[in-house]
Amino acid sequence: MRYIEPHGHMVSRVTDDYVDMATAGCAAVCEPAFWAGFDRSSADGFHDYFCQLTEHEPKRAAKFGIPHFCWLCINPKESEDVQLAKDVIALIPDFLDKPNVLGIGEIGLNKNSRNELKILELHVDLAARHNQLILVHTPHLEDKLKGTRLILDVLKSDRRIRPERVIIDHVEEHTIGPVLDAGFWAGMTLYPESKCTPARAIDMLETYGTERIWMNSACDWGVSIPLAVPRTALEMKKRQWTADAIDRVVYQNPLKFLSQTPKFRV
Ligand SMILES: [Zn+2]
Repeated sequence: MRYIEPHGHMVSRVTDDYVDMATAGCAAVCEPAFWAGFDRSSADGFHDYFCQLTEHEPKRAAKFGIPHFCWLCINPKESEDVQLAKDVIALIPDFLDKPNVLGIGEIGLNKNSRNELKILELHVDLAARHNQLILVHTPHLEDKLKGTRLILDVLKSDRRIRPERVIIDHVEEHTIGPVLDAGFWAGMTLYPESKCTPARAIDMLETYGTERIWMNSACDWGVSIPLAVPRTALEMKKRQWTADAIDRVVYQNPLKFLSQTPKFRV
């Protein structure tokens, strides 16, 4: 099997995870910038984090033969402090030329607040001005539907944004339809305690087809499974999916989306 992990927070994982992923056939891992589990107190903290994502982590992944890519932003959870968020966004252009940076992400909303929306718009503007791909985080549980609608409105109202260059992540049964209908890509996150189980993800694939959809583990510092994508591929095999069809979802689809930036190579 070969697969791409399009969303893994590897700075929070141990080297055994890299070994397991390489053994399972991981051809590349992509790491969006996110919340560290605590609020950082200054823009300097983000500067160091961006250095970690663009310089240190690619070297760590390379020891296990896995190409490492990343996305940059201040996550919605820390965007409530508008001045901090603006200071962090001002740091990003200096990092965009780094060879492993794929675009702006994971931006989006957490509690759907006014400040989060303002910072989302600034990130979308940053991506448009620098012609970057976008990866969007959608809120959890009861905030997801409203948040997804708000995010789609922001993206659709900016004429510079081409939907095929944006992936909306953490979709569920009630949000995948509007995302795909609007021409965006949809990401399904395979998470043991929330978000999506393998069975639900495969149900959605069987309902909506395999165009413009990828799956990811979003493994991080919490309870999560770095091998969630290959494990779901095994589940697909049990449900009579052909090897070609599985390969399309776990390898060719992320390859197609990510290859929209020439920096992505496997
Ligand atoms: Zn994430």
